[in-house]
Amino acid sequence: MEYGFVDCHCHISAREFEEDLEVVIHRTTEAGVKTLIAVTEEVGEFDRVLQLQDSYPDLVAPCFGIHPLQHSGGAEQRSVRPPIGLDFTPWCAPTQQDRDDQMTVFVKQLNIAKELELPVNIHSRSAAKVTIQTMTEQGVKHALLHNFAGKPSTALDAVKAGYLFSFPPAVCRNQQRDKLIRQIPLEHICLETDSPALGLDKHVRNEPSNIALSCRYIAHVKGLSPQTVQLVTAQNAYRLFPKAKRC
Ligand SMILES: [Zn+2]
Repeated sequence: MEYGFVDCHCHISAREFEEDLEVVIHRTTEAGVKTLIAVTEEVGEFDRVLQLQDSYPDLVAPCFGIHPLQHSGGAEQRSVRPPIGLDFTPWCAPTQQDRDDQMTVFVKQLNIAKELELPVNIHSRSAAKVTIQTMTEQGVKHALLHNFAGKPSTALDAVKAGYLFSFPPAVCRNQQRDKLIRQIPLEHICLETDSPALGLDKHVRNEPSNIALSCRYIAHVKGLSPQTVQLVTAQNAYRLFPKAKRC
């Protein structure tokens, strides 16, 4: 396979990987993963991602951003203040102020990306329509919508805008995303794991070596071979993230 897999959205800098990172990286490369787009959620993680890029320059490509939900000390999450992405899940962003704050930070990050001519890696939950609307209004051209779970009609607006979608192994848990996967052209689909979250089993740490599960599932739903899905999704990923391509 020419390209191998590209994990377009993972959190390899997460605490969950601190203890056995080398083993995880070994399994990642053994599984044929060529590139990890290492997404941050908080400013405190930026240095760690840069260190990881230093340690694994052929594998790790940093992707800096601030998640719309932030940990407030403990395990509890709240909206980022003043707030890449929008997460309007009612129990996470209960007030209009929360949603406004997220929007402020979202637009700010979109503008930074435009200024630096960089693609954006978007988290959107319970906010698909407004996310895509905001992005098109802001003139965003290069974007990945990670773990998208909006309506197929909303997804088609994003396809028209030229945006891409990535799906983690969690899509194999049930058939909820099948319609969406069938509707989105393969040229707009990438693979991701969102490790350590969104694995096949909710209670087990996910890792990038599981990316083949997403590939096989998308292939099955679309009636294509896993090889085709692997090749086309990798081409899509490097088209969107050209700086991540090492060879
Ligand atoms: Zn994520």
